[in-house]
Order: sequence, then structure tokens, then C-alpha cells
Amino acid sequence: MDKKHWVEEKFEECGAILDGHFVLASERHSKTYLEKALVYVNPEIVSELCYQMAINVGLSSKVSVSNIECVVGPSLGGIILSQFTAYHLSSMFSKNVLSLFTEKDAAGKQVLKRGYQKLIAGKRVLIVDDILTTGESIKQVAQAVEQAGGIIVAVAVICNREDVTSAKLGYPLFCLWRTNIESWPAKECPLCQRGIPITM
Ligand SMILES: [Zn+2]
Repeated sequence: MDKKHWVEEKFEECGAILDGHFVLASERHSKTYLEKALVYVNPEIVSELCYQMAINVGLSSKVSVSNIECVVGPSLGGIILSQFTAYHLSSMFSKNVLSLFTEKDAAGKQVLKRGYQKLIAGKRVLIVDDILTTGESIKQVAQAVEQAGGIIVAVAVICNREDVTSAKLGYPLFCLWRTNIESWPAKECPLCQRGIPITM
């Protein structure tokens, strides 16, 4: 058997890899669900994941990580990731990297509120998120950032479980863990075919 990815080991340590019958945000079905909320209760692990995300982006020749002035993530998880990642970038480059977040509006779309538009205008932005499935919430964050006049440098995520690519997203994408966790369109789901009830 293949050696486990270190991020997978961290998720396991947090009890965040759940077994059952799940409908993902992408509407695909899977036997495995990554419960990021159980990772967020462990700040040392979250801090390490965010540090590695910053390093991961920094190792790329395509992105000048030292120029990043602002980190933005979609709430709720993105608030936490944005704080830790901005904190590590601030420490690495001895400067103040801002940590902002988007939140849902009445229609459920991720938008900037709280006067954050003014803070982001003209700044070089790193977008962070936890689990990438469809990339939809990242796209909403990106749109909010660009509408406010921010310049998106890159997108960094902890886990990419549906093979979203930089090309598909339209920005350089960095993933700590590209999973090979199986998922299926609902019609082809073997769990549905066996009549197994949906866990969530
Ligand atoms: Zn199913």
C-alpha cells in the first residue's frame, strides 16, 4: 500500500476522515468525508498546515510570495486559515500581512463586508481555503477580491479532492494534498445502488 500523505495523517490524527455515504458540495457521492471542522479544533495542526501552504506557494518560481500583502479566505474555515497563513507570512518577511475573510450574503454568495473592500484595494492577495471540491467558493472570493481592486497572486488550499486545476480556476493553484479519494456522480454511486442511506 502507498505511504500515506502527511496531510492525510494529520486529518486522521484529528479524527476528521469519516466513513459513510456522503453527498459532497460538488453533488458527487463518496464513501469518505473530510470533516475539516475537526481539524480546526487543533491550532498547532492548523498552524502547521498554513505554514506549509505559505511555503508551498513560496517555493514556486511563478509567484513572489514576499510580495503578498493580504490573505483572504471564505468563512467560516477561511477565517482561521487566513489568520494563520497571514501570521506566518508576516513572520517570514517581517512585515504586516493582512488577514481578511469573505462571508455569505443573503443569496449565499461569498462577498467582502465590514469595509474590507477598502483594505484590499490595490493589494497583492493570496486566497486560501480548506477543501477544494468544485472551486465555486474560491471563484466567488476571487470575484469579490477583484471587484474591490485586489490583485490575486495565487490560491492555496489544504486539500484538492476533485482535481480542480490552475487552468480551470484561472489562477495559480497550490494544493498541499491532492487526494485520490473516490467519488461518483449520484447515478453511478455504488452505495446508492446497494440502498445504503445517506449519512449527510
Ligand atoms: Zn450515493
